[in-house]
Amino acid sequence: MTPVTTENKTTTKPAKAQALTAVKGMNDLLPPASAQWEWLEDKVRGLMARHAYRNLRTPIVEPTALFVRGLGEVTDIVEKEMYSFEDRLNGEQLTLRPEATAGVVRAVVEHNLLYDGGKRLYYMGPMFRHERPQRGRYRQFHQIGAEALGFPGAEVDAELILLAATLWQELGLQDVRLELNSLGQPNERAAHRAALIAHLEQHLDLLDEEAKRRLHTNPLRILDTKNPAMHALVESAPRLIDFLDEASLAHFNAVRAILDASGVSYRINPRLVRGMDYYNLTVFEFVTDRLGSQGTICGGGRYDYLIEQVGGKPAPAVGWALGVERVLELLKEQGTLPEATGPDVYAIVPDAAALPVVFSTLQTLRSQGMSVQMHAGSGEGMGSMKSQFKKADSSGARFALIFGGDELARGEVTLKALRDGAGAQQPIPLSEVSARVAEQLAQSFNPPQTLA
Ligand code: ATP
Ligand code: MG
Repeated sequence: MTPVTTENKTTTKPAKAQALTAVKGMNDLLPPASAQWEWLEDKVRGLMARHAYRNLRTPIVEPTALFVRGLGEVTDIVEKEMYSFEDRLNGEQLTLRPEATAGVVRAVVEHNLLYDGGKRLYYMGPMFRHERPQRGRYRQFHQIGAEALGFPGAEVDAELILLAATLWQELGLQDVRLELNSLGQPNERAAHRAALIAHLEQHLDLLDEEAKRRLHTNPLRILDTKNPAMHALVESAPRLIDFLDEASLAHFNAVRAILDASGVSYRINPRLVRGMDYYNLTVFEFVTDRLGSQGTICGGGRYDYLIEQVGGKPAPAVGWALGVERVLELLKEQGTLPEATGPDVYAIVPDAAALPVVFSTLQTLRSQGMSVQMHAGSGEGMGSMKSQFKKADSSGARFALIFGGDELARGEVTLKALRDGAGAQQPIPLSEVSARVAEQLAQSFNPPQTLA
């Protein structure tokens, strides 16, 4: 690596280093918002555990060939959205993962995870796509995904859809609707493709540049256009669902029957094709009208041929991925995204001499599960009581625990309410501190929705 130098050669004064900023479209996640992410992630972990889906973590960087082969060459992602680079040290062609299904499949094949038939897995993490940054669309964004590999039956498609629907329920997400379609099997798609090309060729003048380019390479993707000028043409195009044979229809109907029996409503959308080439049979999206054109919060489907395409023994699979930023944005839009709360207790330390008692007391409170913030001094002392109370207040803590010298001499500390009933205070014997503080916390007003 070339050493970077900030030395200014013409004067003896060193040049002031210019502040660097994050890459466009890639965001820092700061507190308190990060607590909302942790809240969501905890909900997901609990839900996955209850469905016996287990966590899988794959690398963020994969061989470029994995995505080209897996997602399909003529897809938005592979054509124009991938962060691909050559490893300077050994010339390997690498890509920051734009999605995780291909990596999951690679790992499953590499480690022979399907030796016993099937695996139910989930993941969470950052994905990278070079898109135009806007609300709900970033260059580094985060997905949570669930994949069931090795299972051919419609019941697993339904299980995954219901899992997502349950997540919306547990998060309190409203106004999300489910769209469902079947892409059939490759031979059915081939027949539909011929009919679709014939239809589109009759209306060449109505096709935009991208559609013209895709007409003979990937016409199905034209149905997924975001260009409103082409919507009428797409609406009148032959529907893939009319080309499905009995087995494909039976699979679709079996998924629908379980959803119907479970009371999950959906709309069949014959134009729903999804962005990757690897899907077949069931495809679905959860969409909302409340996030403008970034309205898809979760998408997925069956991908029975991907494992083979990535070099594994043929095996069926189905999965979905949700966009974390969009789900949180929707909760915020609804006004139901829980706010982060401050610590339970802020420890006021008038004199550093009390620190040994402070540390042991706070340790006891924390071991009982309480969240405790200790006042930190300025380097020249602990600071005035006034300034310590100011900090306690801005921390959002519910109580201040004051370690005053006189009280300590009596074996006591003072507990003072900072929120509801603010100002009320009482002495607490050090020997009973955790029980008494816990009692006060339980009695004090509990916000209706906290992140706990
Ligand atoms: P879109 O049509 O909005 O571009 P997509 O079909 O490319 O979405 P998928 O590849 O299916 O999206 O990814 C699953 C989910 O990940 C999406 O439904 C969305 O919630 C989220 N997602 C995709 N791309 C981005 C992005 N650039 N920024 C934020 N979230 C994204
Ligand atoms: Mg996209």
